[in-house]
Amino acid sequence: MNGIITPETNRIGTSEETEKNRVTPRTLYLVATPIGNLSDLSPRALKVLNEVSFIAAEDTRNSANLLQCFGIHTPLISYHEHNRKARGEEILRKLKEGASCALITDAGTPAISDPGEDLVVLCAEEGIPVIGIPGCCAAVTALSVSGLPTGKFVFEGFLPTQKAQKAERLEKLKYEERTVLLYEAPHRLKSTLQSLRDAFGPDRRIALCRELTKRNEETLRMTLGEAVSRYESAEPRGEYVIVLEGCPADAWREGSVQSSLSPEEYVQAILDKNPGMKRLEAVKKAAKEYGIPRGDLYDSIMKKEN
Ligand code: SAM
Repeated sequence: MNGIITPETNRIGTSEETEKNRVTPRTLYLVATPIGNLSDLSPRALKVLNEVSFIAAEDTRNSANLLQCFGIHTPLISYHEHNRKARGEEILRKLKEGASCALITDAGTPAISDPGEDLVVLCAEEGIPVIGIPGCCAAVTALSVSGLPTGKFVFEGFLPTQKAQKAERLEKLKYEERTVLLYEAPHRLKSTLQSLRDAFGPDRRIALCRELTKRNEETLRMTLGEAVSRYESAEPRGEYVIVLEGCPADAWREGSVQSSLSPEEYVQAILDKNPGMKRLEAVKKAAKEYGIPRGDLYDSIMKKEN
């Protein structure tokens, strides 16, 4: 097997891989760090963190602890939500001058519900190579153990915290057939589960993946109704990923969903479900299914809009 570390060389893998793993100047490395279990930091990540000119970290105190555990003494600067504009420019300047930089966040993969996206854009615009050093990502780890369909999924990250915006977002997900991945803070878990149940019904299956890779790791597989009941009497503790089953493929067409919608709402549902579909086509379809003249339905929609 390729990709082994030999004590003699302290190198990883074949000579081609050794060459590929060389840390190069003028390069930004996005290094994934553990989401709880320090053993998940890869040998390649360690090598990069040791050899880059400097490390940009979301929280320098937090990352200093991690680096100390591995005996890494690379200079550290902060790069977070509130200084990303000025600090991003500064990092870019250093990269252009020939430095190499590793970006890390508090846990997991940078730029995934974490700082990094803007810096990648800056570098891409200026022709600075950006290299991903893959590793932990809570969302993908949760999906893989969820027991729900993994073939197609959509990552939603954190839902908005404002009630109206949250409801609007959930409305958009109503007919989403792919498995949905959500991050949530423990103090918001209860209310988010309630919102999910209200939006998708109590029977929709979920997996609650808690404290992944840590001592108290657990994956709870249940329905939304059961999850809400569970947390009526228990306090959520630790970090959670919510993995939500998608809408059954035919549910939105058949009785349950359609019958609760007016023909006008049904047209909108068809359009939400089929981005790019022409409105007239959706009107034809809805009119046929409701057994009403398509002209009347079209007029009614236009009247409501004006
Ligand atoms: N960039 C990170 C990644 O790649 O997973 C995600 C960062 S985001 C700010 C933090 C959220 O990820 C937490 O609120 C939680 O939803 C999820 N998370 C992080 N670590 C986790 C863990 N060990 N178990 C479950 N969820 C976790």
